[in-house]
Amino acid sequence: SRGATRPLASQGVAPTPPVRRPRLTVLSGPSGVGKSTVVAHLRTVHPEVWLSVSATTRKPRPGEQHGVQYFFVDDDEFDKLVANGELLEWAEFAGNRYGTPRRAVLDKLSAGEPVLLEIDLQGARLVRESMPDAHLVFLAPPSWDELVRRLTGRGTESPEVIERRLAAARIELAAESEFDQTLVNTSVEDVARELLALMEIV
Ligand code: 5GP
Repeated sequence: SRGATRPLASQGVAPTPPVRRPRLTVLSGPSGVGKSTVVAHLRTVHPEVWLSVSATTRKPRPGEQHGVQYFFVDDDEFDKLVANGELLEWAEFAGNRYGTPRRAVLDKLSAGEPVLLEIDLQGARLVRESMPDAHLVFLAPPSWDELVRRLTGRGTESPEVIERRLAAARIELAAESEFDQTLVNTSVEDVARELLALMEIV
């Protein structure tokens, strides 16, 4: 027992830091801001970073594989996941349901590994409630004009649909203040690097 004879303070020893728990990091932000692009890039650079795989009732897009991008389930299966308390959070987004399987996240955290969730704003709010230690990161567009450009995309959607998406985006942007930290999506590489740093991976 080093230094037990004098009070710690007189030795200039800093107070014991709180036990560091592995971090649960939540990446969220307005739709169209580029969350999944950032995460995809992060995975190519650091494949060892564990990313939670969500369950969804959305149909797979070309190239998506069950168990990789998502666990693709039907409505009944999703109902069961909810009823059995197997989801840490879930939300409805654009007509489909998405949820984070609880067990895998808790297992990783108790094994001391950092965990990354990429989820929508509603989900981020629910994680905040159930896991107050989680670090919530808001991915912001470099500018409103840039978000408009991304949301209007190829211009294949009707003016009404675009208007609805922009109205939603305006509301979503206002959620920034609820987050612990903002990263501006100026470049995918930069944001991925900043995320890794705050997860204490590099
Ligand atoms: P997409 O259908 O484009 O893959 O995802 C649509 C939205 O659902 C994105 O904003 C994505 O972040 C979000 N999302 C994906 N998985 C989850 C999840 O497990 N929970 C919640 N709340 N949102 C999710």
